[in-house]
Amino acid sequence: MSSTVERVADGLFRVPLSIVNAYLIGPPRAGDRGWVLVDAGLSTSRGAITAAAAAAFGPHARPAAVVLTHGHFDHVGSLRPLAEQWDAPVYAHPLEIPYLTGRAEYPPPDPSVGGGAVAWLSPLYSRSGPDIGPRVRPLPAAGAVPFLPDWRWVHTPGHAPGHVALFRATDRALVAGDAFVTTKQESLFGAVLKPQVVHGPPAYFTIDWELARASVRELARLNPEVAATGHGVPMRGPSMRAELHRLAADFDRLARPTDGVYVRSPARADAAGVLRAPPPVFPTAAVLLAIGAGAAVAAAATRR
Ligand SMILES: [Zn+2]
Ligand SMILES: [Zn+2]
Repeated sequence: MSSTVERVADGLFRVPLSIVNAYLIGPPRAGDRGWVLVDAGLSTSRGAITAAAAAAFGPHARPAAVVLTHGHFDHVGSLRPLAEQWDAPVYAHPLEIPYLTGRAEYPPPDPSVGGGAVAWLSPLYSRSGPDIGPRVRPLPAAGAVPFLPDWRWVHTPGHAPGHVALFRATDRALVAGDAFVTTKQESLFGAVLKPQVVHGPPAYFTIDWELARASVRELARLNPEVAATGHGVPMRGPSMRAELHRLAADFDRLARPTDGVYVRSPARADAAGVLRAPPPVFPTAAVLLAIGAGAAVAAAATRR
C-alpha cells in the first residue's frame, strides 16, 4: 500500500494515483473529522487514499466529508467503499447527483477526439458512478464548501454537467478538477509521463465545448497561484498563469477538437440526468487492435 502524499499548498495535499489525482484539504495532523477528501480516484485507489490520509492527518483520521469535482469513473472509483468505511457524507453539484444515485448515465464518450489510446479506450469506461443513495448531498448554494470555510466552489460545466472547481482566495489555490488539466490526458504516454502543460479538459468525456471554454475563462480570471488538477502534476506561478490565460484566450484552437460528436451538438442535462445525447460510438476494428497493444500498459498504469 502506498502512502504517497504531496503538499501542494497550506493544508492542500495531492494523492497521485497513476492516471488521476485525489486531494486532501485540512491542516496537517487535523485528526478525526478535521479534513475533507476531494475526489476518490479509481476502483483500485482505496488503499492509497486511506494511507495518504493517515500520513497527512493522523492514523484513523476520518474526513468530515467527501467533495466531488464531478462523478466520472476515475474520480469516484473508490467513493462507495471510502464513504462507507469513514461513514462520511458526499457533496456534489446538484447536476452530478443523477450519476451518483443510479438515476442516469453520462452521455457516451467520443473516442474520436483527443487523439490517443486513453481516448480510444473511452467507450470501455464506465459511464455511471456508484449508487451512493442518500449519502450524497447537494453542495450548498452560493459557493460555500461544507467544513471548509476558506474555500468556495465554482460551477465549471462543459466537461461534466455539474463539474465544480474549488478556490481559496487567501492564497489563490485552485483545485480545478478536469475543467483544465496539466497533462495531455487523452494520450497514454501523456498521461503516464505527465509532461507539465496547461491543457484543455480530457476531450473524450467533454460534452459541451462552449461551456468548457467559459469555465476555463472563469478559472483564468481567478488568477490562481497554484492549479491542482484532476490529471497531471500541480503547476504554479506566473508561467502556469500565462499558459492558463493563453488557453482561455485561444481555447478553440488549443483545446476544442476540430470535429466530434459534442463539437457538432452538445449534450444537454438537467438535475434529472441527460436530456439529449448521441448514441454511443463503439471502437472500430483498427482501434480495437491498438487497444489490444496498449491494454497491458494501461493495466500497469492503473494498478494503483
Ligand atoms: Zn472527468
Ligand atoms: Zn478525470
